Amino acid sequence: MGELQKIYQTLYIHYGDLDWWPADTPFEVMVGAILTQNTAWTNVEKALKQFDGNLSPRRILALPMKELQEIIRPAGFFRQKSQYLKAVTEWFMSYDCAPHLIKSRPLSDIRTELLQVRGVGNETADSILLYGFDFPTFVVDAYTTRFFRRFPLDVGKTYMEVKNFCESELPRDAELFGHFHALIVHHCKERCKKKMVCRGCPLEQRCEKIS
Ligand code: SF4
Repeated sequence: MGELQKIYQTLYIHYGDLDWWPADTPFEVMVGAILTQNTAWTNVEKALKQFDGNLSPRRILALPMKELQEIIRPAGFFRQKSQYLKAVTEWFMSYDCAPHLIKSRPLSDIRTELLQVRGVGNETADSILLYGFDFPTFVVDAYTTRFFRRFPLDVGKTYMEVKNFCESELPRDAELFGHFHALIVHHCKERCKKKMVCRGCPLEQRCEKIS
């Protein structure tokens, strides 16, 4: 078993199933993935609450831009994000809002297509595809890169280098990728922070703790 798999297993045994992503439908994952850009999830939750249980593709497209901006204001960058939400919703509507039509496309094609949508970068695209549509695509964020460098693992520098490294070292399994990303984020908030808390860390023995 490779080092990355051992790290995953250690974190999974320690923290268990964290039940990510907190959404009931693929569309909610899409909206959350846009709203969480550059802000904490607690702010996303405040914005989502303002939809009063009425969050649907038709409503997002029908809402005047100013009204949509007021609803999502708690998530910050609301002018940009309102435009991104409309754009990603239009993309979803182009598939009749039918997840099975999206899931039937090859991953590389659908990822390339999603990256053309306004406001969708690598991390947002991979979050949507992994958590919304069960594609086996690894999500990388700042936590991931910082965490791996502390061992150190030679993951590379760019988003795609880190992603390709992880995907080449792990079984290509959407469930595993989903759990692993959640575990990394959780672990980096709990322990592997900027100022790391190594004492008692489940990975203490195998990590060189490079700061
Ligand atoms: S031992 Fe320290 S640096 Fe290594 S993973 Fe744990 S908290 Fe992070």
